[in-house]
Amino acid sequence: MASPSILHAGIEYLKGVGPTRATALKNELGIFLQGQLLYHYPFRYVDKTAVSKVADIDKDSPELQFRGKIKQIKKIDGRGRRLVATFQDDTGMIDLVWFRGIQWAAKILVPNREYLVYGKPTFFNGTPNIAHPEIEEIKEQQSQVPVQQQESKLVSVYHSTEKLKRKGFDSKGFVRSMKQLFLKIKPDDIVEFIPAAVVEEFRLPDRYTAFLRTHFPRNQEEMQWARQRLKFEEFFLLQMRLLRLKNVRRKLRGFHFEQLGEAFNTFYEEKLPFQLTNAQKRVMKEIRRDTRRGYQMNRLLQGDVGSGKTVVGVMTMLIAIDNGFQACMMAPTEILAQQHFTGISELIDDMPVRVEILTGSIKGKKRKALLEDLAAGEIHILVGTHALIEPTVVFQNLGMVIIDEQHRFGVEQRSKLWRKNTTPPHVLVMTATPIPRTLAMTVHGDLDVSVIDELPPGRKPVETFHVYDTKRMQVFAFLQQQVDLGRQVYIVYPLIEESENMSYKDLTDGYESVQRAFPSLAISMVHGKMKAKDKEAEMQLFVQGKTQIMVATTVIEVGVNVPNASVMVIESSERFGLSQLHQLRGRVGRGADKSYCYLMSSFKLSKEAKERLKTMVETNDGFVIAERDMAIRGPGNIQGTQQSGMHGLLLANIVRDRLLLIRAREAANEIMDEDPELELPEHQTLKRYIDQMDAGKKDLEWSRIS
Ligand code: ADP
Ligand code: MG
Repeated sequence: MASPSILHAGIEYLKGVGPTRATALKNELGIFLQGQLLYHYPFRYVDKTAVSKVADIDKDSPELQFRGKIKQIKKIDGRGRRLVATFQDDTGMIDLVWFRGIQWAAKILVPNREYLVYGKPTFFNGTPNIAHPEIEEIKEQQSQVPVQQQESKLVSVYHSTEKLKRKGFDSKGFVRSMKQLFLKIKPDDIVEFIPAAVVEEFRLPDRYTAFLRTHFPRNQEEMQWARQRLKFEEFFLLQMRLLRLKNVRRKLRGFHFEQLGEAFNTFYEEKLPFQLTNAQKRVMKEIRRDTRRGYQMNRLLQGDVGSGKTVVGVMTMLIAIDNGFQACMMAPTEILAQQHFTGISELIDDMPVRVEILTGSIKGKKRKALLEDLAAGEIHILVGTHALIEPTVVFQNLGMVIIDEQHRFGVEQRSKLWRKNTTPPHVLVMTATPIPRTLAMTVHGDLDVSVIDELPPGRKPVETFHVYDTKRMQVFAFLQQQVDLGRQVYIVYPLIEESENMSYKDLTDGYESVQRAFPSLAISMVHGKMKAKDKEAEMQLFVQGKTQIMVATTVIEVGVNVPNASVMVIESSERFGLSQLHQLRGRVGRGADKSYCYLMSSFKLSKEAKERLKTMVETNDGFVIAERDMAIRGPGNIQGTQQSGMHGLLLANIVRDRLLLIRAREAANEIMDEDPELELPEHQTLKRYIDQMDAGKKDLEWSRIS
């Protein structure tokens, strides 16, 4: 590596910055060192050669650039205070309007001088205008521009902040500073950590060129090429780190489960009430292989709602028991924990396996006795909520941890369970939120992944309808028919997170109107504010078929299993996210009968809400839904991504750049296959770079700025 001194120099020493602006750059954007500027990427580019004509403006015009003169400047005082400048090119006139920064605008605008104006034209009373345009006087090119930047037609536009702008550091401030920086940097100052073979294979520009042409592209192609390289390296680094983590994990010593014994065999041969699907069998083989290796299992089990993950979890726990270990299953809610507990107890019935449940509401003597038995190894399977994580919960020998509905638990919580032994237990994480393959790579790239891609036989897709509120009576009539056939019905109200009281009111109002509509039916109600015991009692009434309608908030979202329920009505469905809608719909269609889902909504729907409801009507496939969800909302909002290493991605976007991600993953895989410890000389720079990143060093060029 050549001298790193330039990149490491304080930002205040860069020409044109100085101490006050430096302070603002530090506080506002976390930019301390000159080299950090490199990572402050433009968020768009203005093509200085593309100049539009005023006469061509129509009401759908995007942001455009115009070249012309200011003819007249008018200040309007009083209410609606503003400054209006009439701008003219050789085809017509347009008003430029400022509501803020009026004084500034008045100062820089001079009649009859030539300006470049950039902004989105809109029409007001039939005349086109641009509010708060970007405007720049056309002057002679400044000298002192490095040779390689002179021909630039694309001008970078940078994010700045209000404070920085007030200190004269707007987008153009960044352009100026970037120029200063590139006057000093030499190609050798920028470390190339991607191995030469990969650079060559993917025809990547070198890093120096990539930075230079991202900030100062001479044309579109060059800009794309440069940005591709930077995106590739973001993906590549992320994948390298995840694969290395996976490698480390795979070498963590773990319990060796020698045998399948009494518990597993009895269950499989005598208790299992159905044939496993091929997908379930395949996953069991994968788990069996993992637990025989002598290393810790870290496996993610993905499977759509209703694909039968629970039984896989149960059989996995039985393997642990056959080998003299305890197991636990952690669920995100009390209702779900209770249901797993009941379900598992029924499944293993008179087998000599002791199952208990621990939740926050189990207290006092009962809890104490339970914890004692657990520590003495007398409890084989402990089902529970996150109460299981508490330090007072001590196992004698915990060998297997099953985590259901993983997205509710953070990585940190997961690892707390690990620490319950010196040798970490095997971990199987089950998630019903299928995520797109590219996202899985990014979020779970450190785990081994199993997929149940097959539903148990006889399942029919849930027929789904989007219905406006005005037609509720027709839906209610249909509900009555279904109940007359002996079926049961869910009616779900949204939980409004900002206002628990309001959602409670929605729910109780709804409950009353349902009661009025079905005076002869028994109705249950469950919501988050109820005591666990009451919740459970209501749930049980519904499970046992003593009530026909379940009115609930989303507490029933995950996992609840009542095969006789055949209709799901979702009120205000426009307020739900796609994955939640899919989860809710998954509560029906669990028995042999045809099932239905009604998505109720008002007429006022956003474009996204329409798209979501349409998706639900069109498909039952959780993976398709996940893909659409990601396309509609962007990856940052998908559950689970917040905890991932996604913050390393400044330019790259896993939706738009998915092909690049797959290639980066392949490149990383190839390196790790060939040289898992990164010992080859050609991988030394890469290894050091990653090690520094993982050590969390803020050292520039050895770490990214997050
Ligand atoms: P999820 O994957 O959503 O957790 P569950 O494990 O709750 O799904 O299973 C849904 C339903 O399917 C349960 O009633 C379960 O007993 C049943 N089931 C699971 N596997 C099979 C199978 N191979 N054949 C028939 N029914 C099955
Ligand atoms: Mg489940």
